[in-house]
Amino acid sequence: MNCSCQPNQPSKENNAQFAKWHGIDRNAIDWQPKIDEAKCIGCGLCATTCGRKVYKYDYENKKSKVVNPNNCMVACQTCANLCPAGAITFAEGADTREKAQKIVRETRILPAIQKELENKKEELKF
Ligand code: SF4
Ligand code: SF4
Repeated sequence: MNCSCQPNQPSKENNAQFAKWHGIDRNAIDWQPKIDEAKCIGCGLCATTCGRKVYKYDYENKKSKVVNPNNCMVACQTCANLCPAGAITFAEGADTREKAQKIVRETRILPAIQKELENKKEELKF
């Protein structure tokens, strides 16, 4: 349970729906947004844009909070791309695209994607 004294405490809300990434335990993948509160201007664009309930908004202090970091879609950067203050990051000292590609390499996901393509043939067939 979240409480007001621990606004950044991750919760389990909605996690079940996003618990796997192509069959891999999402908790094993290092891809979560981080907000630099000193930069954040409290516009709320990230919280109102993300469709995965990663954020809540602290109306009193006018700041967005990351509450469900592992609900984040691996390699999505929409909130960071939109943030007018450049306050959201996914990788420290590294390019976010490089970080995403490293995740693809390290999880050796491509054989599983081939199977997924076969399973979704009717849906994805062009
Ligand atoms: S989009 Fe950026 S500036 Fe706006 S609330 Fe989110 S982190 Fe803060
Ligand atoms: S990167 Fe995408 S899924 Fe992740 S928190 Fe931002 S908008 Fe939501």
